[in-house]
Amino acid sequence: MTTNTQTLLLLPGDGIGPEVTEEARRVAVHVAPDLQIESAFFGGVSYDQFGTPLTEEVMNSARKADAILMGAVGGPQWDSVPRDKRPEAALLAMRKNLDVYANLRPAFCFPALAGASALKRELVEGLDIMIVRELTSGVYFGQPKTIETLPNGERRGIDTQSYTTSEIRRVAARAFELARGRTRTSKFAGVLSCEKSNVMESGLLWREEVTKLHAEQYSDVKLDHMLADAAAMHLVKAPKDINVLLADNLFGDILSDEASMLTGSIGMLPSAALGDPGTPGLYEPVHGSAPDIAGKNIANPIAAILSLEMAMRWSLNRADIADRIFAAVAKALDAGARTADLGGSMSTRQMADAILRHL
Ligand code: NAD
Repeated sequence: MTTNTQTLLLLPGDGIGPEVTEEARRVAVHVAPDLQIESAFFGGVSYDQFGTPLTEEVMNSARKADAILMGAVGGPQWDSVPRDKRPEAALLAMRKNLDVYANLRPAFCFPALAGASALKRELVEGLDIMIVRELTSGVYFGQPKTIETLPNGERRGIDTQSYTTSEIRRVAARAFELARGRTRTSKFAGVLSCEKSNVMESGLLWREEVTKLHAEQYSDVKLDHMLADAAAMHLVKAPKDINVLLADNLFGDILSDEASMLTGSIGMLPSAALGDPGTPGLYEPVHGSAPDIAGKNIANPIAAILSLEMAMRWSLNRADIADRIFAAVAKALDAGARTADLGGSMSTRQMADAILRHL
């Protein structure tokens, strides 16, 4: 326990965001009553209220918080809003402004849910992968980025994949540090770094810089390299071989979505976005605002509750509480707690109550 008051900023957002974030809030109040919890509008609800999906005031509160727990943003009612005012723009701006460059996406298969995976039970039972995806650079941000019209009237879309040495090194360092805390004996027991060094210059630089950093500071951690397309195959062939998978923004996006399907429902998956040590981390379920089930009290709150678990572990230095939350989720699932996405009939509130009973 720390002595200074820590602040958790909740940004429930849109759709099922407020429903699942409320359950995470109840868990937070239960396990850490000393935590100062604030809440603010973000995304579509903020646009409706203030004409912008992210106000300066909320951005400032985020900078001052110790951790930020987001629900989800977006929905069909904002589809015709100008691009820079769309709810999703708030998310990108928040990530960029906080410079949270390392996206941690665990793909963990709870024993009780091994049968719900897209793969055979024996391939996923005991699965525990941590994907570290670079989040603030690469092809989603590189310039030039445009659609232009050529002299012959054809149109050309351009995106630029670009990485600097420091951008690669800082996210790779996160992956190596994570691997140090996750001892494994599997084939790729340390960091598995993925790129396309066979056909991309940025991929070649990625491989060289990761190798150099490893030799300089992390030679105690096992390092393997794999082309990103081969990694996509390995994830469905023998996922338990992998411990920490490191990739750039684009490949990390795709590989982490693929890995998420190994674990059952999208309603189970948390994520963290981290910057330099001492800066606030951004935590959010992997799922979106699920407009099809919003307001029905049937969304699975586990992704939000496990996002709180990650916030306790990675930003609030409360690993003991994080362990308790994780164990309570596992016990509730073992006891048969299931929302509709897991084949059950529990409401959002009932699932959270089942978890709270084990805390
Ligand atoms: P989605 O994740 O919202 O929903 C996909 C499917 O999964 C839906 O059938 C939904 O009902 C189900 N689902 C999602 N979360 C669930 C939960 N907790 N419990 C039970 N079922 C759940 O993705 P989508 O439908 O492609 O997108 C809907 C909106 O969300 C869009 O506006 C999109 O832009 C936005 N979105 C936001 C984020 C974010 O806030 N980080 C991420 C993805 C999508």
